Amino acid sequence: MTIKNFVFNPFQVNTYVLYDTTKECIIIDPACSNAEEFEILKNFISENGLKPVSFYNTHSHIDHLAGNAYIKDNYNINLCIHKAGLPFLEFASAQAASLGFTLEKVIQPDFFIEDGDTVNFGNASLKVIYTPGHADGSVCFYAAEDAFIIVGDVLFQGSIGRTDLPTGHFELLERSIKEKLYTLPDNVVVYTGHGPSTTIGNEKRHNPFVKA
Ligand SMILES: [Zn+2]
Repeated sequence: MTIKNFVFNPFQVNTYVLYDTTKECIIIDPACSNAEEFEILKNFISENGLKPVSFYNTHSHIDHLAGNAYIKDNYNINLCIHKAGLPFLEFASAQAASLGFTLEKVIQPDFFIEDGDTVNFGNASLKVIYTPGHADGSVCFYAAEDAFIIVGDVLFQGSIGRTDLPTGHFELLERSIKEKLYTLPDNVVVYTGHGPSTTIGNEKRHNPFVKA
């Protein structure tokens, strides 16, 4: 599996395109917030001959779903989220406006994913791990064979997701990190929702907010 990372919108969200030798791809957190950013993503997909088959949000904070409409309109593929993220979509447009985005259209999910589900594309598969605490509906996507995990805003290099927003809860986040992430092998690469990637081992040893 190959993973390509883009950084989009004023909140510098990491958008990930995952693909394999079959050229099928999925998009996680399409955060492109204008036509220019969408072009960058679209060009990468077309130049590499990729075929998008579905797309996902790690959670439904506006900065992570800013590009959902571009993906839906251009590729007409299914959006999959955890159902606990649904309430955020009701306020997404208003929240976007307050942050200086224009979100003309809020895309409703086609399917729900939950803890233990498997996401498949091409010959690849990722396991869905439910990790609330930063926001209800937060999921991680774990590729055990390829030793990486996409975690959204649950865990960052040397930091953790904020817990002061609606449905945020520190003890819940701490439990998600300790029980669901720190139990993975140390060599697993952690692709975060913002900023650089890290590893499970590195965070277990050095994260100042959640100790192993
Ligand atoms: Zn967030």
